[in-house]
Amino acid sequence: MRSCDVLIVGGGPAGSTAAWKLRRAGADVLVLDRERFPRLKLCAGWITPEVVRDLDMDLQAYPHRLLTFPRLRVHFGRLQVPVPCVQHSIRRFEFDAWLLERSGAPLEQHNVRRIAREGDGFVIDDAFRCRWLIGAGGTRCPVYRTLFRELNPRAAELQIVTLEHEIQYDWQDRDCHLWFFDHGLPGYSWYVPKEQGWLNVGVGGIAERMKRGGHDIRQHWAHLAARLGGRLAPGAHYDPSGYSYYLRGRVDVVRRDNAFITGDAAGLATRDLGEGIGPAIRSGLRAAQAIVEGTPYRLEDVTGASVSSIARSMLGRATRAGVFSGRRDTPGGGPVHGLRHRDQ
Ligand SMILES: Cc1cc2nc3c(=O)[nH]c(=O)nc-3n(C[C@H](O)[C@H](O)[C@H](O)COP(=O)(O)OP(=O)(O)OC[C@H]3O[C@@H](n4cnc5c(N)ncnc54)[C@H](O)[C@@H]3O)c2cc1C
Repeated sequence: MRSCDVLIVGGGPAGSTAAWKLRRAGADVLVLDRERFPRLKLCAGWITPEVVRDLDMDLQAYPHRLLTFPRLRVHFGRLQVPVPCVQHSIRRFEFDAWLLERSGAPLEQHNVRRIAREGDGFVIDDAFRCRWLIGAGGTRCPVYRTLFRELNPRAAELQIVTLEHEIQYDWQDRDCHLWFFDHGLPGYSWYVPKEQGWLNVGVGGIAERMKRGGHDIRQHWAHLAARLGGRLAPGAHYDPSGYSYYLRGRVDVVRRDNAFITGDAAGLATRDLGEGIGPAIRSGLRAAQAIVEGTPYRLEDVTGASVSSIARSMLGRATRAGVFSGRRDTPGGGPVHGLRHRDQ
């Protein structure tokens, strides 16, 4: 039986960030993930400036694809609104493996099935023993299922369903486009370019409302594909896959004795845009902090809404551009961070 102080189930952004913080404090940590990294994670891969700050990331030193958008292009029906704010895109295939490696924590490929309490610690699959346990296994996290589900049942009305595909494509429009409520979709569809010829496109909506309204997500996908085929991505071919996760609802219990849940395992994606990477990272940090410093594990500073952070980013950009000081000499709309590329 392998023993460690802290065992983390799941090596996505929540798990790797907790591991990073714990390792920096000298903790004996082990990460278990059922996949071999780098692994595919269905995700548009849009990250906010908060993510960059929380991870203490030096954007210039990031060794993989990273593209910075000077604006988001938001579409409502025929209306198109350019929203000047700084956001970034990464490929999850690269980003998640990089975060895990950077954490310095050992990783074992293992599909966690059984979790049993033993004293004030836990035994996993009769193979691993730990004092502290962090559930970071995403929507189907076994730590959530075993220790938290009864206390925090997930609300069906907060379930999101998605279809997406990330392809190699020589895109020409480097802005991120979001179409809200297109053809009655209770959600939005997206076009997110990645550095050096990758593109992620997808559709996401509230599962219950789609069902009630008789929507078929594949029809929404077909609308998006037709739209992209017309202008933004002519000639692209797709083979989309689906995934579902939960928006932030009431999460009453996130810690039970020495066990924690973080990220999608706790259902923390923002209510307005379904942004889950930032909340996963912040909750991973807070869980690690609770173990290292003995602070309470609370989610109060884990954002539940993306629009407020976009507004802050807009404000920062407007201030830098002199909008509020009346300066007119700063060019608007140019990339804040240029294109860079390094192979996998
Ligand atoms: C189509 C789509 C687009 C999205 N776009 C964005 C976006 O652009 N920006 C954004 O911020 N958020 C986005 N999200 C949400 C975001 O992807 C998630 O919220 C985020 O990945 C949550 O991170 P996590 O670490 O909690 O879980 P995950 O990233 O899901 O990581 C969980 C890990 O646990 C492992 N695991 C699961 N079960 C077990 C087990 N039994 N044993 C061992 N390991 C296990 C998995 O292999 C996985 O590596 C999107 C989601 C979808 C589906």
